[in-house]
Amino acid sequence: MSRAHALLSASAAHRWIPCPPSALLQEKYEDEGSEYAAQGTSAHSLAEWKVRRLLGDIQPDPRPDLTYYDQEMEDATEQYAAYIAETIAEAKKTCCDPCVMVEQQVDFSRWAPEAFGTVDAIVAGSGHLWITDLKYGTGVEVSAERNPQACCYALGCLELLDDLYDIDLITIQIFQPRREHISKWTVHKDDLMKWAEETLRPAAELAAAGKGDFRPGDHCRFCKARHECRARAEQQMALTRYDFKLPATLSDEEIEDILRQVDHLVSWAEDIKAYALESAISGKHWNGFKLVEGKSVRRYTDEEAVAKAVQADGKDPYERRVLGITAMTQLLGRKHFHEILGGLVEKPRGKATLVPESDKRPAIDFTDSTDFNNEEEKGE
Ligand code: SF4
Repeated sequence: MSRAHALLSASAAHRWIPCPPSALLQEKYEDEGSEYAAQGTSAHSLAEWKVRRLLGDIQPDPRPDLTYYDQEMEDATEQYAAYIAETIAEAKKTCCDPCVMVEQQVDFSRWAPEAFGTVDAIVAGSGHLWITDLKYGTGVEVSAERNPQACCYALGCLELLDDLYDIDLITIQIFQPRREHISKWTVHKDDLMKWAEETLRPAAELAAAGKGDFRPGDHCRFCKARHECRARAEQQMALTRYDFKLPATLSDEEIEDILRQVDHLVSWAEDIKAYALESAISGKHWNGFKLVEGKSVRRYTDEEAVAKAVQADGKDPYERRVLGITAMTQLLGRKHFHEILGGLVEKPRGKATLVPESDKRPAIDFTDSTDFNNEEEKGE
């Protein structure tokens, strides 16, 4: 179940809409595979199989061939299939024969040249369309509201189904089981079309032609050009106007300006360091720099032989520790974990963090006297 990639893919719309020339630029770089992406692919294959099974379409069990599979994936995809079943039941309230499509390729090239994407699950009833996107990752909580990827999918679905189901409303559902997060957003077709004409089409035309302005932002961290992009570098270097003054000599306004940009600056600097190191390992020479070995720690060459030697000496070489929460969740599965250990897990208050006003988390209530936690999750 491989997924083809378009130049203007829905999954990268969050990047190429604000920064159109980034689309063509990606062609210069190799695909960056990752363990997380491979894990997501396995989860999607299993989820697809389970939803098809739910619909009576019995396919060979993919589990033996999955690169990644564990109890957590089993449970997460089970929850996802149950969620799709609920969505179908919702559609059946107003439509006796809703249409259900799984891993469906949709085309939104009416607005973006040669653009298409693959939707995890589509349910269409009379006047209403539901699009569900399974996000298996845990890194960032994804919101359905004005989500460019899902909006592109919605347009592709309308191309397929609007004539048959006369759709007025589109509900976008992001299902992120490993963060226990579901986000839903309903948009009227006219509003979606307005966005498609006023935002998507102009950005797509520029992107396909490699034109438009380079606009750095949060989306840069998913861009293959992030290490070398001049616009991103210039934006970060703009902070040097403060000339590394000590905080006490800066005005409140200057500190607020730095706070607004400092996370981008740190992530950009880390990207540059990682890129330079990788190039140096591949043979590139950077003037004034050399590769050296970092610190290393001693390790056993053969753990079994070590255990035997210590046992022969009459001592116990093993320590017994309870698995951390992540490893225990993988062992038991999320549902069973909650059943037997739910009452034994607590979530202390998180470390205080200064974030922009636009952040969705509520501001700290200082009348609540519980202490903040400055430690990482225990047992991880
Ligand atoms: S790094 Fe950012 S600004 Fe530069 S091309 Fe990529 S998305 Fe655009």
